[in-house]
Amino acid sequence: MSPINQYDYIIAGSGIAGLYTALLAQEQGSVLVVTKGSMDDCNTKYAQGGVAAAIGRNDSPELHFKDTIAAGDGLCDEKAVRILVSEATDCITDLVNLGMPFDTLDGEIALAMEAAHSVPRILHAGGDATGEHIEATLGDQVRSSKIQVLEDSLVTEILVEKGTVKGIKVLDCRTGSIEEFGCRFLILATGGAGQLFKFTTNSDVATGDGIALAFSAGAEITDMEFYQFHPTALHLPGVTPFLISEAVRGEGGVLRNVEGYHFMPDYTPDGDLAPRDIVARSILYEMKKTSSDKVFVDVTHLPARTITTRFPHIYRFCLEQGLDITKELIPVAPAAHYMIGGIKTNSWGETNIAGLFACGETGCAAVHGANRLASNSLLEALVFSKRIVTKTSERVKVEVPATSQGVEVHHSLDQKQVLQAVPAPSLPALQMLLWDKVGIIRNKEGLTQAADMLAAWQESLPQPVDRPSYELSNLILTGRLVTEAALLREESRGVHFRSDFPQSSSQWQHHVAFTKYQSSVQRL
Ligand SMILES: Cc1cc2nc3c(=O)[nH]c(=O)nc-3n(C[C@H](O)[C@H](O)[C@H](O)COP(=O)(O)OP(=O)(O)OC[C@H]3O[C@@H](n4cnc5c(N)ncnc54)[C@H](O)[C@@H]3O)c2cc1C
Repeated sequence: MSPINQYDYIIAGSGIAGLYTALLAQEQGSVLVVTKGSMDDCNTKYAQGGVAAAIGRNDSPELHFKDTIAAGDGLCDEKAVRILVSEATDCITDLVNLGMPFDTLDGEIALAMEAAHSVPRILHAGGDATGEHIEATLGDQVRSSKIQVLEDSLVTEILVEKGTVKGIKVLDCRTGSIEEFGCRFLILATGGAGQLFKFTTNSDVATGDGIALAFSAGAEITDMEFYQFHPTALHLPGVTPFLISEAVRGEGGVLRNVEGYHFMPDYTPDGDLAPRDIVARSILYEMKKTSSDKVFVDVTHLPARTITTRFPHIYRFCLEQGLDITKELIPVAPAAHYMIGGIKTNSWGETNIAGLFACGETGCAAVHGANRLASNSLLEALVFSKRIVTKTSERVKVEVPATSQGVEVHHSLDQKQVLQAVPAPSLPALQMLLWDKVGIIRNKEGLTQAADMLAAWQESLPQPVDRPSYELSNLILTGRLVTEAALLREESRGVHFRSDFPQSSSQWQHHVAFTKYQSSVQRL
């Protein structure tokens, strides 16, 4: 490898996790950011609600801790959650110092309420354009720094020698050529995998690349059965499912079925502000009951000014589609939103491979447990990215870290008997399969069908050559991990709902992890 291509840090991804890590890491050594589209192609820029942090007068890290643990349904790593809530303020201060224009009220940062938070603690910017401002703020700082950025460059392989990361292979998406880059520390910040599903709020880049890369390199992947579906994505013919943030219900919006009935109080005392999984399932039941493909969010009873000032982005987007939400109901349906599981890390972002780190949506330090509290993911990306740089700046000898946390069962992906007539793998076929069989409500029969099909597709895929074929291959592997984990977990917990096992079970109060090289079965 030419010394020109050698860096201290290589960071894959340019969302909040990648760019924030890069800005902090530049103080420690040379930094290369590799990203498969243009720098701001990511999920981050679509975040609306904001960042959760216990900075309010009537709030505390302890209260934030309790809310996060309650949402996580028995599977949060308590140590990691303590770190998340107590290191939040430092990261918010960093963001402000980098120029992040959080909205203010009477000279102080304004705080909004969101579902399952016990007090208002969501920092936002431009009303509901928080992610856009974060991405622009970090992007501007990176552009004016010495950090090198390679756009249109897709990481295709992690190079590992004797259990230690040595670098990556990168496809130049414009020319099709492959080049190698070396590093001391590789940080995967490649985001989620919403493109697994037919309906998703995620951007096109969310294809599970980091999961597939890390798994193929021998890293542990955990909690993949927990895929969060957002209850309210705009449901208009021909319009991609645009998020109608929880904050809209936080401000007083209510859910009505197509007959105009306000149904959430029938399902839970928390009504419209119940956790996402409960709202998503309740919506599905109402859609079935009324034989409709949608329900509505109603904000017509709120003052028009509240809507246009608090949610300018949503208001404008809907208006462009011919829908004035100050006067008309907003048609919505659930959509895949957030990958709770990911590359297993300890609380320093370390994986089981020396020199390999993961942060943001692709990493999993188990802070969300079985269900993510709204607005905790941007915070998670900040806190654990910062910890990676703290850890690596100690310049300790790179060692294989001990990542065991909590109680776990390890599995490998079995080879399956190939089905007789397998339709050719394609992105629409994959998305339909996962939506139908591995979606909001699951059962053994559907999961088994999906698992067999995915295994057969994986066997039949030719060697990828370009961005779409690499992404499809990564999605199939990631889809297998989601499906196999969902099949194993014979209970319902958090966002994972099995109609054949509708209750949670104390026997399942542990994490499921996969490795390519199955090592051991641990069940403590
Ligand atoms: C519509 C929407 C609204 C949301 N609202 C909120 C909210 O209000 N609050 C909150 O906390 N969370 C919210 N979330 C979740 C949150 O935005 C994401 O979890 C977070 O932004 C993920 O950041 P990230 O840096 O990990 O990934 P991303 O921002 O998705 O960035 C991933 C990057 O990796 C790159 N990449 C991927 N694969 C490769 C590869 N093989 N090679 C090179 N580059 C690669 C991508 O191009 C991209 O640049 C929302 C998500 C969505 C979709």
